[in-house]
Amino acid sequence: MELLNHYAQQLDSLKQQGNLRQFTASQQTGKFIQIQNHHMLNLASNDYLGLASDLQLREQFFDEIPNDQRWMSSSSSRLLTGNFPEFEQLESSLSQAFYGRAALLFNSGYHMNIGILPALCDSKTLILADKLVHASMIDGIRLSAAKYVRYRHNDLNHLTQLLQKYHADAEIERIIVVTESIFSMDGDETDLAALAQIKKQFSKVMLYVDEAHAIGVRGMQGLGCAEEYGVIDDIDLLAGTFGKAMASVGGYLICHPVIREYLINSMRPLIFSTAQPPICMAWTNFIFQKVLDLNPQRQHLQQLSQSLQQAVTAKGYDCPSSSHIVPVIIGESQKTVEKAQMLQAAGFYIMPVRPPTVPQHSSRLRISLTAQITQSDLHQLMQLL
Ligand SMILES: *Cc1c(COP(=O)(O)O)cnc(C)c1O
Repeated sequence: MELLNHYAQQLDSLKQQGNLRQFTASQQTGKFIQIQNHHMLNLASNDYLGLASDLQLREQFFDEIPNDQRWMSSSSSRLLTGNFPEFEQLESSLSQAFYGRAALLFNSGYHMNIGILPALCDSKTLILADKLVHASMIDGIRLSAAKYVRYRHNDLNHLTQLLQKYHADAEIERIIVVTESIFSMDGDETDLAALAQIKKQFSKVMLYVDEAHAIGVRGMQGLGCAEEYGVIDDIDLLAGTFGKAMASVGGYLICHPVIREYLINSMRPLIFSTAQPPICMAWTNFIFQKVLDLNPQRQHLQQLSQSLQQAVTAKGYDCPSSSHIVPVIIGESQKTVEKAQMLQAAGFYIMPVRPPTVPQHSSRLRISLTAQITQSDLHQLMQLL
């Protein structure tokens, strides 16, 4: 009991601070979510294109795939017997879409981000990372042998100053700049065109950009912000995940074939973990083909996003967002939680986000829009904000 008491006390103090995390049971149908029999519009979903909840798509997929191809396990790492044709088919689709560059798949975005940096970095590597990068990249940085400096969020001048300072250092052989394209808490984005220009001034620099929130949502074909800004070829390590708009699971990297081969030989989460079930690969490929043609949905989502950003600003809140993730920054935690409860009671499932997930005094409602939402849904929400 002594041993357990230690953990029980920690849990108690989390609870007292209002920071205890718990699972919530929910049922989802289309754009709605039901929690304890309360029916709400789901404004906390990452299913940005509404594909995960699309029953017709699911039916079409299973109709197309005969039972003898419905492998629910790969039973092994891809380096042993797990390399089913579905993996190579998906990589080939990605490669074709991303201008012939190499593609490599991972079990999840988390596996991807904790594996790539430790594999590519040694003590002669410097990582320069945006202050607000995702926890998975922080963990990857911690597991690597690289030196590590953070630059102020989205401050490319600060990044340039750091590059000028470190680039001349003979001890440093390579510098990897790590960022996201769309950031998950502010919904703001990195100027990838400017970032690509900065890289061109420094020969030791490689860019690592995580498009988790942008793949499927941005660019004419949904290939992300890199497509939108025309810099697909300039980003050395162009990463993303299938668990959000792509309605599936997994991570991918677009890179040079040399990097791909090097990762296959050195990346521990890739080598030492059973590969995803082949049926998931087939589903991801099925969805990917659809996503290339979903520009009308992307445009609708963009219009919704702009309406909401404008409304939030008009109500007097700071709105850093330029994407479908729109925070309403309230400041004080207690007030934020009360406001979220009020909106939930009114039928809008919006989650409060508090420190330490976001900086002190910047507690917020995080609204995440999907393409199934209508302007009239938004109109009702805006009146309550
Ligand atoms: C969600 C997310 C991940 C993790 O991806 P999973 O496939 O869910 O493991 C990685 N990076 C960013 C920026 C994310 O938002």
